Amino acid sequence: MPERSDSGMESRIPAPGAQYDALSLFSGGLDSLLAHRLMERQGLRVLGLHFVSPFFGKPQRIAHWREVYGVDVVPVDVGDAYVRMLLAGPRHGLGSALNPCMDCKVLMLRAAREMMPACGARCIVSGEVLGQRPMSQRRDALNAIRNDAAVRGFLLRPLSALAMEPTEIEESGFVDRSRLLGFTGRGRTSQLRLAAEFGITEIPTPGGGCRLTEKEPCSRYAPVFRHFPAPRAADMELANAGRQFWAGPHWLAVGRHQEDNAALAALAGPDDLTLDLAGFPSPLGVMRRVPDTAWDEAVVADAAAFLASYSPKAARSGGPVEVDVRREGGLRRISVLPARVTPLGWREPTWAEAQDWKSGRRKPA
Ligand code: SF4
Repeated sequence: MPERSDSGMESRIPAPGAQYDALSLFSGGLDSLLAHRLMERQGLRVLGLHFVSPFFGKPQRIAHWREVYGVDVVPVDVGDAYVRMLLAGPRHGLGSALNPCMDCKVLMLRAAREMMPACGARCIVSGEVLGQRPMSQRRDALNAIRNDAAVRGFLLRPLSALAMEPTEIEESGFVDRSRLLGFTGRGRTSQLRLAAEFGITEIPTPGGGCRLTEKEPCSRYAPVFRHFPAPRAADMELANAGRQFWAGPHWLAVGRHQEDNAALAALAGPDDLTLDLAGFPSPLGVMRRVPDTAWDEAVVADAAAFLASYSPKAARSGGPVEVDVRREGGLRRISVLPARVTPLGWREPTWAEAQDWKSGRRKPA
């Protein structure tokens, strides 16, 4: 059963009462896998935590990792906590896009720390390698992450441990420091050699997969942050789907193909409106309003006219078309003239606007 912690993070301990010696931050990348396996090689029971949010995470791969690598991994949903952290302003700032890499690590480590008592774990394991990334894996950054997360003494970075000061958990003898490694820098040769030693033949592809490092997805998130006073992970999930259009604070997501339409239908919440043309094949539209505001009929009609313009047959019909507007518990039909250019002026959000939002944020003191 999922459990929700004080910080609002959802986790799944494999079985009530399951006990582990260590929790590892398991991204699915090679370094996290090697760190996990290094600890297991010492005879420690290790549970991998795979963090999931609208921005990263591949929970659908967990079964594969269990099977291919023989590791015990569970998903940990940090979506809402993550969105709150981004909104509040990451203490260590943002990277080249909207990626708060240091605060991201802190958040994951805190989540892992919160889970330790439930599974009896005495340490947390991370696959970070000293000097591998210019910003977040410098020695001072690694120390700041450890201190902010309050995991000093029991956070192990087994791949780089010998290049760092011994931790209390090593000094206590719970972890055998002599069997840890001293990798540093950006090279991958040592990791690949270790993978071969472990008999790992399926090498995970390096890095990637975090939408917060990419401009296009970040352009989608920025208007949500700008207009919603307290956005949730579910809002960012909607921002990930289909094509995104905004007209001031008004939000319309439009499917590009059937897969998008299905995804949008699944993401539509009880307070959302779905728009669908009656009598013509059309993309599905989902409108979400800023909480505690009322639906404006003129805005809905404007969005419906805009959506209808994405149905070639409806647009060619030359006259008004009917659009079904659904909301949980109700359906009504409105008549609109398809129009790509409408009075409200729906536009796709741009990276320049996201940068503008980003530059207006100041780090919290
Ligand atoms: S790239 Fe994304 S997932 Fe990785 S540390 Fe940075 S913000 Fe976190």
